[in-house]
Amino acid sequence: ASSYVGFDSITQQIEHKLLKRGFQFNVMVVGQTGLGKSTLVNTLFASHLIDSKGRTEVDIAPRATTEIHNQAHTIVENGVRLKLNIIDTPGYGDMINNEGCWEPIIKYIKDQHSAYLRKELTAMRDRFIPDTRIHCCVFFINPTGHSLKPIDIVVLKKLAEVVNVVPVIAKADSLTIEERLAFKERIMAELQYQQIRLYPFDAEELDEQEIQLNERIREMLPFAVVGSERTVLIDGKPVRGRKNRWGVINVEDERHCEFVYLRNFLTRTHLQDLIETTAQIHYETFRSKQLLALKE
Ligand code: GDP
Ligand code: MG
Repeated sequence: ASSYVGFDSITQQIEHKLLKRGFQFNVMVVGQTGLGKSTLVNTLFASHLIDSKGRTEVDIAPRATTEIHNQAHTIVENGVRLKLNIIDTPGYGDMINNEGCWEPIIKYIKDQHSAYLRKELTAMRDRFIPDTRIHCCVFFINPTGHSLKPIDIVVLKKLAEVVNVVPVIAKADSLTIEERLAFKERIMAELQYQQIRLYPFDAEELDEQEIQLNERIREMLPFAVVGSERTVLIDGKPVRGRKNRWGVINVEDERHCEFVYLRNFLTRTHLQDLIETTAQIHYETFRSKQLLALKE
């Protein structure tokens, strides 16, 4: 079915105990208001939440004063539980003066590391520590077709230091195929010039296949995505799409946009690695800095 998310393929990769408990995956979306963050999140997972009533719990936590919203979902596929936390960050870069607009976002990410560290230091070795660390930050780029804004560069730099960052071109239906390609190239050149290190990283223990997969992902970044909360009929079949005067964009059609690639990347091919990289690289960096500071 088209609403199938696909994370259950992870079964081969994760130990039994972890599977029974279900695994926690925390995704943050960052970008200007109106770029389609909420819509994309709903496109990714809500199809699921809507047409699988009964096996889905939706729980919306109260609004935090920082304006960072936390949406918790539990989705189940073939007996595998995925506890999905979506952290929505409205308001970034919307102001005339964007000085420090990234601070609450970075603070939120660090606070989760810090909470985990506190529990780790006090908990018994085998006790389960709830994981609220952000495993992936999806960064929404305005589809101007020109270049990144200076504020984007600043925020991307800050983010890449503390979290796995995956950039997407928002509302890619507003660009032609040629514009999209040129825009992608310009963005990646700029990021490279700025020495911003994006996920995925090549670790030493990766095999040939994984290295190739990462290479393919890097060639595709940033994913040019389109989201929709509506269902439209194509050849009599309901699909997630956007209808305009000229025709219909099928969100799940790989010829129309890269939504499916992003979904496969997040929920199938890189879910486990995003979680591990967070623990082994980003959290470890935070942890060693903290422990070093304690000693001084
Ligand atoms: P957010 O503020 O980033 O969460 O943005 P929303 O998800 O609320 O979307 C803002 C507006 O953009 C809504 O009217 C959406 O219907 C529209 N929108 C969302 N995704 C897309 C897209 O991929 N393409 C186009 N053309 N419009 C979109
Ligand atoms: Mg929103």
